[in-house]
Amino acid sequence: MELTVLGAGPAYSNRPGALGSAYLVEAAGGAIVLDLGQGTFTELALAVEPSRVSGILISHLHPDHFIDLVPLRHYLRYELRPPGRVQVFGPGGLAERLDALHGEPGFAAASLDVAALEPGLFGVGPFGVEAARVAHTADSYAFRVTAPDGSTGLVYSGDCGRVTDLLRLVREGDTLLVEVSFGTSPVPEGAWHLNADDIVELARDARPGRILLTHIQMGFDPAPVLERVRAAYGGPVRFVTRGERLSL
Ligand SMILES: [Zn+2]
Ligand SMILES: [Zn+2]
Repeated sequence: MELTVLGAGPAYSNRPGALGSAYLVEAAGGAIVLDLGQGTFTELALAVEPSRVSGILISHLHPDHFIDLVPLRHYLRYELRPPGRVQVFGPGGLAERLDALHGEPGFAAASLDVAALEPGLFGVGPFGVEAARVAHTADSYAFRVTAPDGSTGLVYSGDCGRVTDLLRLVREGDTLLVEVSFGTSPVPEGAWHLNADDIVELARDARPGRILLTHIQMGFDPAPVLERVRAAYGGPVRFVTRGERLSL
């Protein structure tokens, strides 16, 4: 599988190039997108023809993870002849959120086939997907995506405030693409995000083959996060940035 980072920023940032969360995963026979946050439709359109993706998985209904479904919808409807459609899997109520943004019932359904996520296993194009609920909003998901031949696993945390939710999803040797919103600082009560100590715990207990860090908030320093994780984890660990492409 190939992972293209379309956006790896948090909800807002002054860091140059920090867009919302969005990751393109490609393999022979298809492509899927994990989240589509602010500003990332352009990156998606530069990487692939958007109507050709097998599906888009939305982790939860915070706009930094789904808001660019709006430009995607417009693109499918107005740019393509005949208009295109894309399958979207997201928490219940996603279509209604998009409709409300535009003040137009049926706005989402005009171009997007929106299915409600449930925990469990399903297929999207050539990929296997396991969705698991995580503590963040009342209906938030992390995903484990497996290659068509089953050889590689990628776990994407979405936004997650409880390590044990991810431990159920990660298999030894997987690539773990995980948020570390609060850097080396404590996570405030009720914020439901992760910090560097949580990543250390994940590395120790889940034994991923590689850790890719993302979603660090504005003003938080990545360097001490890497230092702390590397002190406890012998595998490769780094922050991902927009535009980079990695082989999994
Ligand atoms: Zn969130
Ligand atoms: Zn977020």
